[in-house]
Amino acid sequence: EALKSRVEAIDPDTCDVGDEDAFFVADLGEVYRQHLRWKKNLARVKPHYAVKCNPDTQVLRLLSELGLGFDCASKNEIETVLKLGVDPSRIIYAQPCKTKGYLRYATNAGVKQMTFDNVDELYKTKQIAPDAELYLRILTDDSASLCRLSQKFGASMDSTGELLELAKKLDLNVVGVAFHVGSGASDPKAFIKAVQDARFVFDQAAALGFTMHTLDVGGGFTGDESFEPMAAVLSASLDEYFPPSVRIIGEPGRYFVSTAFTLACHVIARRTVTDATLGTTSYMLYMNDGVYGNFSSIIFDHQHPVPRVLKNGNDVLYETRRSGYDTPSMVEYSIWGPTCDGIDVISSSCTFPEVIDVNDWLYFEDMGAYTKCSATRFNGFTDNHDVVYICSEPGARALLGF
Ligand code: PLP
Repeated sequence: EALKSRVEAIDPDTCDVGDEDAFFVADLGEVYRQHLRWKKNLARVKPHYAVKCNPDTQVLRLLSELGLGFDCASKNEIETVLKLGVDPSRIIYAQPCKTKGYLRYATNAGVKQMTFDNVDELYKTKQIAPDAELYLRILTDDSASLCRLSQKFGASMDSTGELLELAKKLDLNVVGVAFHVGSGASDPKAFIKAVQDARFVFDQAAALGFTMHTLDVGGGFTGDESFEPMAAVLSASLDEYFPPSVRIIGEPGRYFVSTAFTLACHVIARRTVTDATLGTTSYMLYMNDGVYGNFSSIIFDHQHPVPRVLKNGNDVLYETRRSGYDTPSMVEYSIWGPTCDGIDVISSSCTFPEVIDVNDWLYFEDMGAYTKCSATRFNGFTDNHDVVYICSEPGARALLGF
């Protein structure tokens, strides 16, 4: 409804420049439902929302009202969360290789929890944040995830002893272990192995005189139906390896926002492609958003957004064109973004039962994770599309004052 009413109000022939830009509709009720679902399935794990995934202010406000913590990766993210009135103790600076200036900023702002995974970071921490509450991030098997992180971060299990010994020598405060099984994880077994490894490091730390009290199980959870089985496996291994006295936190990102955002895009141009030999006609559709914009998720997050028809113009020529097809479902399209680059393709082949023309609108569901946050301004297009907020849950409406 929100999608439709906005596009109905736009006349591309007369509207102000930019009024026909792509836009999101965000249902904050969906974020709220994901929160309830998390509490039901992973009651032991206190989520620290990974801001990088979608730093939308209303999402952050809602999650803050719901009492979540936050995983921040940079100064800007920490600043954004602190501005909402969140206490620094609810933030973990979950970046094992930090910029010195950012680390100084975080420390001055009172953010103490942070991760590390290498010797050099320990020396840096000693110099700038000697009172930090450190989490040793360990390597995981992330081979069954969409976005692998372990080739970049995580201490191998044969290096954790040496790192803990150095931390002891430097008189640093190591309070726990962190891991991440890869974003968009699909194999629950990765959690079992990671929890077992974390247990090993807890014991190693105890032998060196540390009292670790918190395990950070990272992100990797998807919002689809694989969440419940994944959560069940994780909960069982947490209960097996960690007594209730150990605090468990997580850093979910995608799980909270993926399904909450829908993106509407305007068809700005069309090219008709005829194949004389086969006697077929297909169309190349050009939209006003692409892989350099909110569809950056195609490149960075290995997504395959599914196009759906939001508004089909029914212009004068429409019926004539349509009557040219015996089977409307035969109409074939490729869908492209607005920039000059050939890589800017959203779908190289899809079909609609309708003829889609310039001025029509398409929409794409599940566009909340790793989309807007990694959009660029390449070719001069905007990287900041409007968000129309709705809220399908009274509980969330009350919290947000909607
Ligand atoms: N924590 C860290 C350190 C990350 O690098 C990421 C994603 O890259 C996340 C949490 C969020 O992961 P996800 O969106 O898969 O939950």
